[in-house]
Amino acid sequence: MKLIQKPIVIVGAGFAGMTVALNLKNLNPSLPILVVDSESNFVFKPLMYEVLSEEIRVWEATPKFANVFSDVGITFVKNCLTKLSLKENILEFSDELRLSYQYLVICTGSIPNSLQIKGVDENCYFFNDFNDLKKLNSFLKKSQKTASHKKLFIVGAGPSGIELACKIQDMFKDQFEINLIEKSNEILNKNKFFNREQAESALEKRKINVFLNSSVQEVSETKVIINSEDGITSFDKDIVIWTAGVKPNLFYLESDDITKKNGRILVNKNLQIKNHHNCFAIGDISIVAGMENLPITAQVAMQEGNHLAKNLELLIQGKDPLPFEFQDNGEMISLGIGEASISGLGVTLSGKLAFEARRLIYASKLPDITESFKSASSWIFQKKSFFKKFFNNR
Ligand SMILES: Cc1cc2nc3c(=O)[nH]c(=O)nc-3n(C[C@H](O)[C@H](O)[C@H](O)COP(=O)(O)OP(=O)(O)OC[C@H]3O[C@@H](n4cnc5c(N)ncnc54)[C@H](O)[C@@H]3O)c2cc1C
Repeated sequence: MKLIQKPIVIVGAGFAGMTVALNLKNLNPSLPILVVDSESNFVFKPLMYEVLSEEIRVWEATPKFANVFSDVGITFVKNCLTKLSLKENILEFSDELRLSYQYLVICTGSIPNSLQIKGVDENCYFFNDFNDLKKLNSFLKKSQKTASHKKLFIVGAGPSGIELACKIQDMFKDQFEINLIEKSNEILNKNKFFNREQAESALEKRKINVFLNSSVQEVSETKVIINSEDGITSFDKDIVIWTAGVKPNLFYLESDDITKKNGRILVNKNLQIKNHHNCFAIGDISIVAGMENLPITAQVAMQEGNHLAKNLELLIQGKDPLPFEFQDNGEMISLGIGEASISGLGVTLSGKLAFEARRLIYASKLPDITESFKSASSWIFQKKSFFKKFFNNR
């Protein structure tokens, strides 16, 4: 076996980073692994809607990195990467820490993309991380105490927009008049047909207004201006939530260093960065050559993390890495309190059963689950026996 001199450094411990770290440690317990993240807690983003609606508690969806990693002997440091020079093999962090590496994995996820539309950054709420969730929650709670039928706009009828619209309607009933604004001619236009149909009836049942073929031109403090087939219309608004897209979080990159595609780091099928084959980019920040249409999801991030763990172990053993292959395991969306829709691997399921199955499947997807994670997810495991048959088929 070949020895490595420096730790394997993983920056970003979301779905991709967490998976590669835990799986690599499992494959080779003697490897020194250093994980760095700017936050103290992992955020299980697909369950942020349930945290908002208080169907699950904050700690259940946001376990502490320190607990998860110390359980398995991985070193965790809380710090923010501010500069990366691949030419010099140097990482710089916000408190002047500098690190060198033999192998580097970067996976710093996405941030909202306001598409340079006037007023969006200043006047919209977002729903991409835990701080966004807290800000939105605080606005919604405060609004509860004042007049009803407040005008709430959600921009983007992808999964995030739809899931938020249904949850907020179920939580606050007539407190808000909810309007969903979508640029294309249908909701969930990149998703499975079954889920789209279920989402359409969930929106209809909740009397959520859907504006298709409509794009936001500007958001001010009091108005949202929308361009549609009827022309340009200015609406009064109380709140606009922006879910119309994300972009890779790569502010720390030196611009001329790395080849990109659609703003994301282009990696080869072994998940290596061009000209820097000891460096890997996975999850939302990267695009795999020849697999440009893969969705930007936790499912992809985790499969890449799992594959990269195997490739790193091969490289350390002096063997050739293997090309990544994606397996589509289907998709799940929540549709209001206690309801969801699932489509994939020949199974379609909707309503309350789908809601319970979705939570259970998320627990099963947790990367080589540790004891602390298991207890944090106890609410899911309690239901495991009931769903065993379905669960085993996924
Ligand atoms: C509300 C919501 C719901 C979603 N629902 C689903 C779903 O149902 N199914 C699905 O498959 N996908 C879903 N997604 C998408 C999914 O969450 C992402 O695709 C996934 O998180 C990407 O994994 P990642 O590891 O690339 O990034 P992330 O999981 O976002 O992790 C990035 C990590 O990097 C850290 N970081 C960022 N910058 C720095 C820095 N400079 N220095 C150090 N650390 C840094 C962050 O703190 C974070 O921990 C959802 C996303 C959102 C926002």
